[in-house]
Order: sequence, then C-alpha cells, then structure tokens
Amino acid sequence: MKKNYLFTPGPTMVPPEVSLAEAQPMIHHRTPQFSQIFYELSEDLKYLFQTKTGEVFTLMSSGTGAMEACVANVLSKGDKALVVISGKFGERWAELCKCFGIETITIDVENGRVVDPSEIEAVLQKTEGIKAVFTTQCETSTGVVHDIQSISPLVKKHGALLVVDSITGIGVHPFFMDEWNIDVAITGSQKGCMMPPGLAFVCVNSSAWNVIEKADLPRYYWDFRKMRKELKNKTTPFTPAVSLVMAMKTAMDMIKKEGIENVWKRHARLAHATREGARALGLELFAGEYSSNVLTAIKAPPGIDVDKIIKRLRDETGVTFTGGQSELKGKIIRIGHMGYVNDFDVIVAIAALEKGLSEAGYLVELGKGLSTVQSILVSKK
Ligand SMILES: *Cc1c(COP(=O)(O)O)cnc(C)c1O
Repeated sequence: MKKNYLFTPGPTMVPPEVSLAEAQPMIHHRTPQFSQIFYELSEDLKYLFQTKTGEVFTLMSSGTGAMEACVANVLSKGDKALVVISGKFGERWAELCKCFGIETITIDVENGRVVDPSEIEAVLQKTEGIKAVFTTQCETSTGVVHDIQSISPLVKKHGALLVVDSITGIGVHPFFMDEWNIDVAITGSQKGCMMPPGLAFVCVNSSAWNVIEKADLPRYYWDFRKMRKELKNKTTPFTPAVSLVMAMKTAMDMIKKEGIENVWKRHARLAHATREGARALGLELFAGEYSSNVLTAIKAPPGIDVDKIIKRLRDETGVTFTGGQSELKGKIIRIGHMGYVNDFDVIVAIAALEKGLSEAGYLVELGKGLSTVQSILVSKK
C-alpha cells in the first residue's frame, strides 16, 4: 500500500481541516457572507507578511501570476530594472521584465550561492535610474536563502523599489514587510501556506503606491489599482476562487493559532534535523551554509542516479522528493519540509532517503541518518 508524503517544494501537504474547508458548499461572491470571509482573510494575511501599513491582495493564480502582476504594476515603458538571478526563479523575474520590454540588468549568482548585497549596491551606483530591484528570498531551485534584510536599505538608499519573491520564504523564514522596508512582496498558496495551488498573495506597502498609480505598462486583470479599490469594499474585482479563499481562511487560522514565530522556529528545527540527517549519511549539502529552511538540497553522490531513486520511491512507496531542474538535473535531490510538516514527517523523509540510497547501491549504514534526526528532535525543543 502506498501512502503519499509530499516532500516537494510545492505543492506541499494540505491539512485535512483545510481540505474540508475547501469542500464547503459554494456561496456567491457578491454576498455579505463572502465579503466577511474575504475581509477577515485579507486582514489575517497582513500578519503573515508582518505588515500594518501594507495591503494584501489575493490573486487567483499560481505564484508566477503574482510575479507578472508585480512587473506590470510597478514598471513603465522605458524603465530599467535590476534582477538578482541565483536560480530558476530569479531567472523568471528577468524573463518577465524582458517580456514587458523593460531594460533588464542582471546579477548572476552561481547556483547554490547567495548574492552579496554590496554587488547590488555597486550596480545601483554605476547605473542611473534603476526603477526597481527584483529579488528572491528563498531560491527554491537551489535551496538557498538570501539576506533580504541587508539588501533592503541599499536599494532604498538609491531610491529604487524592492520587489521580493518570497513565495517559499513567507510562512517558513522570518519575513518583516514593514520592519525591513519592503515595497512589494509576494507569496503563493501551495508552499508554506499549507494550501493547494491556485492562490497568490501580493503585499503592497504604502511606499510603492506613488509608482504604481503612475506606471504605464498594460494591465487589466492584474491591475493593483482595481484590486485596492475593491478590497476597500471587502471584495475582488472579478469572480474569486471562492473555495480556495475559504480554505485559506482555515489555513490562516491554523497559522495564527500556532503563532508565526513558532511556525518559523518549527521550520528551522525540522530543516536543521534534515540537514544533519543527510550529513550523517555522508552526503553533502548543495547550498552549504546558505541553506534555507524550505528544503534540503543534497548533492548526488558520484555514480548514483538520484532521479531513478526519486522515481522509485515515489512510485513504490508514495514518498515524493524532487530532483534538480535544467542544469541541476541529476545533480541534486531536494527534500521539501515546508508547511504542514512535523517531526515525524522528517523522520519518514530520512528513512525513505536511506532506503532509496541503499537500494541504489550507495553505502549507507541504515539508521545512521535516522538516529541523528531523532536525537536532534528529541533533545531540542
Ligand atoms: C514555486 C515558486 C514560484 C512560482 O511558481 P508557480 O508554479 O507559478 O506557483 C516562484 N518563485 C519561487 C521561489 C517558487 O518557489
């Protein structure tokens, strides 16, 4: 019998409470009932982004839709943008900017490493008139976490807007919209939010409105000005994904009940245990000291076909990891531990990793990773 454990970097596992909320009978969206849920959710989302001054819009799309919306709302024809690329998702910012005809300057960071904030400052100093800097907090394709807190003041100093893809950051790593002075940040439902795919959230701080009001790139469905106007009426400009909104309200209730600081601590602890478990098996971490708490990226041991291990585990046991994308294909295993994950889930993950490696002929002393994980989880609170 297979039992599904989704240790993938999105979609992630969904709590039964959230699935049940999603299954509630449909209601019409132009009703006081929906407005009440939507209003409460929009307020709760401010807590998720740690903002008092920002507004959070719910977009009916995957994360990339929110990325496109940011580009379309913040930039104008003839603008220059700076994009930090440290993997697939940074690359996506650059593709989007180019798609809208924006002059795009990139900082290319080696896979598995993070940007040095001073490099951003150097480009801002050298290049006149950069309107916005687009960055990623957690680069899910390589497993690193960037130091957004240090990047922000440098961007501000040069008068540019800071737009952060925190799609796997928010709800996993500490993130402070107001305190860090972020202008625009986004997250998605299917990563740290314990939700199915289908919603994305954009937080726009008061500092960004001046630019957004005047921006002149074409936008219709993704127009933040329309969303802002309708949010004041406790609703959305177009038909929302009613069921997902109801599910997200429940997911937010769970996050509030645990407390966001405890959510961050849980992820740090589980990530630490998973990393140490992998190390105990003689494996090397792809992102080393830059590893995020979103996922553990492990280098493929020489001569071991990790994609075959991943496929076999998934098809035979239901435990799903992911491999690398593009140039990282066959080079890494990614074990996601974000969202609805607890101690015993990461124990399952490490046990499955031991099984997969052992069956593939990689010398593992069975239980070595597991005992390391157990001793971390038992001794630490
Ligand atoms: C998942 C993800 C996205 C968006 O992907 P979608 O498939 O559109 O939801 C963007 N950035 C990061 C860092 C991600 O992890």
